Amino acid sequence: MATIYRLDDSTLYLCDTCLNDLGPVPGTWKEDPLAECSVCGEVDLQAREEMDAYHHDMSNRQWEEDQRMWEDHIAPEIYNPQELK
Ligand SMILES: [Zn+2]
Repeated sequence: MATIYRLDDSTLYLCDTCLNDLGPVPGTWKEDPLAECSVCGEVDLQAREEMDAYHHDMSNRQWEEDQRMWEDHIAPEIYNPQELK
């Protein structure tokens, strides 16, 4: 099972396998379960399945609130990392 990491302040993503193959890569690597490896395209399927199951159990209202929270707090960091500086 792959774990995906993002290099701090960049848009580079690596799975644990690529990180081992290419590493050690200097910098701070933070786990990002919904990202995709920039090198081999690996994804963390388990994290995605857990996310899907989580949303499946929620009502539409809760889903909308969660979606809004997700977009407000997580998506900007993923899609617009430069704006945080
Ligand atoms: Zn990889």
